[in-house]
Amino acid sequence: MLDRPFFPWKKLVIGFSLADFALGNWLLFRQYRVLSKTSVPKALENQVDKATFDKSQVRYRNLASCSRPLLTHTQEYGRAKAKFGFFSSIFNEVKSYAILYLDAYPRLWAFTGLLLARFAPARFSGEITQSLIFVFVFSFIDLILGLPFSYYHSFVLEEKFGFNKMTVKLWIMDMLKSQALTIAFGVPIGSAFLSIVKMTGQSFFYYLWLFMLVVQVSAITIYPILIVPLFNKLTPLKPGPLKESVEALASKLKFPLTELQVIDGSKRSSHSNAYFTGLPWKKKIVIYDTLLDKSSDKEVEAVLAHELGHWKMGHTTKLLAISQVHLFYIFALFSVFINNNSLYESFGFHNERPVLIGFLLFNNILAPTDEILKLLMNILTRSMEYEAGMFPRSNSFPSERY
Ligand SMILES: [Zn+2]
Repeated sequence: MLDRPFFPWKKLVIGFSLADFALGNWLLFRQYRVLSKTSVPKALENQVDKATFDKSQVRYRNLASCSRPLLTHTQEYGRAKAKFGFFSSIFNEVKSYAILYLDAYPRLWAFTGLLLARFAPARFSGEITQSLIFVFVFSFIDLILGLPFSYYHSFVLEEKFGFNKMTVKLWIMDMLKSQALTIAFGVPIGSAFLSIVKMTGQSFFYYLWLFMLVVQVSAITIYPILIVPLFNKLTPLKPGPLKESVEALASKLKFPLTELQVIDGSKRSSHSNAYFTGLPWKKKIVIYDTLLDKSSDKEVEAVLAHELGHWKMGHTTKLLAISQVHLFYIFALFSVFINNNSLYESFGFHNERPVLIGFLLFNNILAPTDEILKLLMNILTRSMEYEAGMFPRSNSFPSERY
């Protein structure tokens, strides 16, 4: 039904993208206005006096909120971040428009085909190799274009507010390491992904989903063991009152705590955080050294009580389950679009229909549903934050401690 010759897919995608851009920046603008207020908002009049409010404009305050770095957010910092978000979204919008307008996908696809024909031995040719090279070249260009923004974010914006602790050398090393990891994991996973679609026919989405489930579960297992130590140093938490109270908290909640570690987050930024990772029966709590520096033992314990609240209420498991349903829906719908000629035609692919390109274009078409989903997910994760926030209070912890 959706495969009609000359259906304006490209115009549709440009329209979606502009609408998304407008909506995002309208929200950002509203936020910016809130952050520019000079008087106490009505709803807080009874809680906050003028002097405290004024302080929040310029001085750092302690605010616990996870899923974003903890502590020290001010209105001024918020405004600077909103401005940065505005300029980088303009850049991204121009970039996506240029990609479509200049037919960057078909041109780059043809170029990688030429590269392969010229330099690669015959046994390496074929759609999968070409797709991997395509992704590599494309993301390399994207990385280079994004460098000024990344540099500005760390060394100008974060630096100005005293959050940046990274040296340029570390910034470059991080980038090289991430690129090496992307290639090391991306090549086998990408090839398997494309081979599954090629080999399993009409019902590929089912196998693809199973494969991605295995990949995700392995990633969750491998990440804290193999990847985190490449970027950070983890040391056991020193014995002392904090360690004892965290262990007591964990055993009270029957949290299977096997390791309690401190991570050297201060190497990059003075933002702080704490999290737990590991398999269901063997968990590890990781505390940022920056959190230990800035907070009393009781405050650290309160932050961990919040994190353990997430665990006790199964938030991570719920989110993993939701992402599985989401992936299944994406792949199943992709199986409907994968042979849509008009889609490929509209974006300049007249003779070939590479799976990778099909998936890319299909994701562009899906963008508006992703926006709705993102909104729903935000509502859900925010309500989880409230639940975890109430958890220490509602579970027989002496409330004044938290
Ligand atoms: Zn939280």
